[in-house]
Amino acid sequence: MIYDVTVPITNTMPVWPGDPPVQLSAKSHESRDKTHIVSLTAIAMGSHTGTHIDAPFHMIKDGKRLHEFPLEILVGRATVFKIPRVRSIGRADLERLDWTGVERVLFKTDNSAHWLDGQFYEGFVYLEPAGAEFLVERGVRLVGIDYLSIDKFRSEAHPTHLVLLSKNILILEGLNLRAVTSGQYMLYALPLNLQDADGAPARAILVNS
Ligand SMILES: [Zn+2]
Repeated sequence: MIYDVTVPITNTMPVWPGDPPVQLSAKSHESRDKTHIVSLTAIAMGSHTGTHIDAPFHMIKDGKRLHEFPLEILVGRATVFKIPRVRSIGRADLERLDWTGVERVLFKTDNSAHWLDGQFYEGFVYLEPAGAEFLVERGVRLVGIDYLSIDKFRSEAHPTHLVLLSKNILILEGLNLRAVTSGQYMLYALPLNLQDADGAPARAILVNS
C-alpha cells in the first residue's frame, strides 16, 4: 500500500502568513498547426509551500543547502508516531516511545485534520526545543510533522528549527498523515532539485514495509 502524504498544491491552499501565495496560471496556447491546444502552467510560490523540506540554510547563515544532502536521508525506513490531543510535543512525550533503530520520524498529531479547514490554522501542534534535543541525542536524521512549521506559531526565534538544523537534521513539514497509522514504513520524500535551495516542495510517500 502506498500512502501519499503530501498536500495538493492549489491556488487556495493555506500558506504560511507572509509567504508568497501560490499562483498557478494557465498559459495555454493553440498549436502552430491549429489542431490542438498546448496546455502549460506558470507557477509562482514560495520554496516552503505545502509539503516541503527545510535545509539548514533556511535558518542558518552559511548552513547547508538542500542539494548538499544525499538522497539516502530522504529515502529509507521511517517511523510514524501518533501523538494525539497535545498542544505541543515535549521530551516526556518522546521518552515513552520506542526509539530502537529510528532514523527518520514523522509525528502524526491533531494537525492532520486541519488540512480540511481551508485556511491557515494558527493553533497547530509543534515540537518543543527540548523534544528536538531529545531527537538529536537519539541520532535521528530526519523529522517530519503534519503542519507548515515544526516551531510554535509566532515563535520568532525558531528554537526548534535551530536545534535540528544546526545538527544537519532535515525537517519535513506540511505532511498530511490523516490516512496513516503509527508504525514502520518506507519513506520516499523527494524535493524539487532547486539549485542552492533553502528548502523545496517535495512529493512524499509512505509504503508499508
Ligand atoms: Zn520550517
